[in-house]
Amino acid sequence: MTATTPTVAATLGKYLDLDQKGFIQAEYIWIDGRNELRSKTKTLSSKPTSASDLPEWNFDGSSTEQAPGHDSDVLLEPVAIFADPFRKGDNILVLCETYNPDGTPNKTNYRAHAKKVMDTYADQHPWFGIEQEYTLFQADGKTPLGWPTGGFPGPQGPYYCGVGANKVFGRDVVEAHYRACLFAGVTISGVNAEVMPGQWEYQVGPCEGIDQGDHLWISRYLLNRVAEDFGIVVSFHPKPIPGDWNGAGCHTNYSTDAMRQEGGIAAIEEAIKKMSLRHMDHIAVYGVDNDKRLTGEHETGHISNFSYGVANRGASIRIPRHVAKQGKGYLEDRRPASNIDPYRVTAIVVESSLAPDA
Ligand code: ADP
Ligand code: MN
Ligand code: MN
Ligand code: MN
Ligand code: MN
Repeated sequence: MTATTPTVAATLGKYLDLDQKGFIQAEYIWIDGRNELRSKTKTLSSKPTSASDLPEWNFDGSSTEQAPGHDSDVLLEPVAIFADPFRKGDNILVLCETYNPDGTPNKTNYRAHAKKVMDTYADQHPWFGIEQEYTLFQADGKTPLGWPTGGFPGPQGPYYCGVGANKVFGRDVVEAHYRACLFAGVTISGVNAEVMPGQWEYQVGPCEGIDQGDHLWISRYLLNRVAEDFGIVVSFHPKPIPGDWNGAGCHTNYSTDAMRQEGGIAAIEEAIKKMSLRHMDHIAVYGVDNDKRLTGEHETGHISNFSYGVANRGASIRIPRHVAKQGKGYLEDRRPASNIDPYRVTAIVVESSLAPDA
């Protein structure tokens, strides 16, 4: 190697500078049979203006735990478009729903039902804001960033919203992801370093109705792609490290028109009462391995009990202090785990809280 040997990045750049000749690269993205993301690229001859302009496509569902080998085609139905921060220009990311050949939603397609729920209650303008927590791991997938190999860092305390090379790990990934979200058109509202070293949070919202799930899924896609560039692995496991370390959640903040109006606290309390009646139905869709996280320790309420309170971070649902004070605003459902499908969570929150009285 000489000093003039170009880097891989410079070599790749030489090709990416080539003219696309008016063609568009569309990255079709979908959720697979393990609640993880997959994507593949299609060339389009012109730039679409909406998802409905885009062609349907398909993939081999037997390779993604979405179909049997003898009837493996699953259809991709474009539902939302975002700008592509990796290819830039007019290139796009295309979020898709998955459908079986007979036209029914694939068993992994929870957006189809959520969309119906959001359409039903559209007049109440449900807003969400989800706090996505996650953990960055070295490429081995075993050691969180900032942890000594096979050992432990100093106990929790200095890391949350920390500053300094001995307190935060992976800020380059976080900054790159934040900017990628803004470029793509994802409604990201902030980021912070979390309580466990290597753990981070970003917030997506407020988004109305089905947009919350769409934006959160694209934000996760962007995080995985950005981390891939850095040779870092993202974990959405709710308890990535057992023991006296905080788990990872997806606190789901929620409001309707009525809750945001003067005196909306009454509507908030009414919603909480209705949601409390279906605690275990909620828990059933609030993430796999969430029992390892909702222990009643580490700023959680125990998985088997429903509780709520003002400014109480050990409750299932928290009414933020400023909401109680102003008498209007939103509630925070603290139960959902970091690995939720947000379509399932936003749908059940709306269904439970807005269902007509029995
Ligand atoms: P926490 O204090 O729990 O860490 P954050 O500041 O991380 O809270 O997240 C609060 C979230 O609440 C943000 O995503 C924000 O967009 C969302 N939010 C704010 N107002 C509303 C509202 N009226 N309805 C729903 N979500 C809201
Ligand atoms: Mn092939
Ligand atoms: Mn937060
Ligand atoms: Mn947090
Ligand atoms: Mn929170």
